[in-house]
Amino acid sequence: MGILVAAVSIAFWGEPVGIVWLVLGAACATLAMIGATLRLGATAEFQRKEIKAFEVDIDLFNDLLSEAEEQLEELADSIPGAVFICHPAGEVLFCNQAAKRDFNFPDPIGKSILQVTLSVDLQEAVATAIPRQSPQVSEVVLSHPEERTLTVSAWRPDPIAERVYLSLTDITPLRRMERVRSDFVANASHELRTPMAAIRSMAETLIEAPELPEEQKSRYLKKIIFEVDRLTNLSDDLLVLSSAESRHSLQEPVDFVETVRYAFHELEPQAKEKRLNLTLEVPDSVPVLGDDEQLVQVVLNLLTNAIRYSVEGTIAVKLERIDGFAVLSVTDSGIGIASEHLPRIFERFYRIDRARSRETGGTGLGLSIVRHIVEAHGGRIEVDSELNVGTTFRVFLPCA
Ligand code: ADP
Repeated sequence: MGILVAAVSIAFWGEPVGIVWLVLGAACATLAMIGATLRLGATAEFQRKEIKAFEVDIDLFNDLLSEAEEQLEELADSIPGAVFICHPAGEVLFCNQAAKRDFNFPDPIGKSILQVTLSVDLQEAVATAIPRQSPQVSEVVLSHPEERTLTVSAWRPDPIAERVYLSLTDITPLRRMERVRSDFVANASHELRTPMAAIRSMAETLIEAPELPEEQKSRYLKKIIFEVDRLTNLSDDLLVLSSAESRHSLQEPVDFVETVRYAFHELEPQAKEKRLNLTLEVPDSVPVLGDDEQLVQVVLNLLTNAIRYSVEGTIAVKLERIDGFAVLSVTDSGIGIASEHLPRIFERFYRIDRARSRETGGTGLGLSIVRHIVEAHGGRIEVDSELNVGTTFRVFLPCA
């Protein structure tokens, strides 16, 4: 444009005017270029600043994201049960520490839920999970890595979500407790029914056969009294067991020497009656923290058994203080216990020779009561025995 004006100016007004126009044109063009360059520079600077701000935002966002991931993992790891997030096809996308530990599988991500858990039921739970406000809950028994009963909740967050949440709760101890309780009730009713049936049949005989000889009548009556005593023993033991289980043991200062002495003297007459030699060896004092009534029960039960399962010989009761523990040992030279029975004698109602235990007034609860009380006092019980040689029970209680 400047060149055109210059050319026209040269044509009409001569060269000097044209040159002026040419110079003006060039100056304008230069100014325009400088302006454009400056504008471009400003835009670039603005964009650079924007990018910088954007980068800061991304860093912040990444920080927030990794913090959220960390919190999610912490939360998931603090859940006691196993938690998985899976693709509906079964691939494990996420899991917590409990899931790795419970299935003994250190790196389950990317593996299939079947591969990790070896459970077709869990695979099925993932495949059939549907979106629900309240998840589908079912009970599954697993055999890997050990037998366990679990409740399984599986749900999708929404119908199109490509993920399924799977939460597992181990209810094995609960089921075991229910089984123990129902076994206990069954055993207790059996124990009650046997003497009651005997009492009933003897009482019926006495009513229906008044012509029975006096001597036989007297035998039946004695037997009825014996069975009633057994029932009394059983209900006493059941009460002791239930009280030991339902209330916390007291934590009072007790001199265990006095406890042992008291139980010893209580049972001395019984031992004498069976012509057993009963000996006692105790130090001056062994203080423990505990429930005196329950501790007396421990010593009484062990001594009763020693007397009950001995025909002759000596029963030695000894109390010592060893490495911060009060150690009570009750040693008899009785019938002994065969090694295959030793692991089971502390179970409720477990008796090696049912008839013998019954004959001697046993209920099968004595040792389970002892173990329960000793463990509730923070102690432990051990047994050594040799068949036809004798038995030693040792109770360890922490000294006060
Ligand atoms: P019980 O009332 O039948 O004696 P316990 O729970 O006290 O029940 O003992 C369980 C079983 O352990 C007994 O039936 C008996 O077979 C065995 N047992 C316990 N103490 C002794 C012992 N000192 N010597 C031999 N056997 C024993």
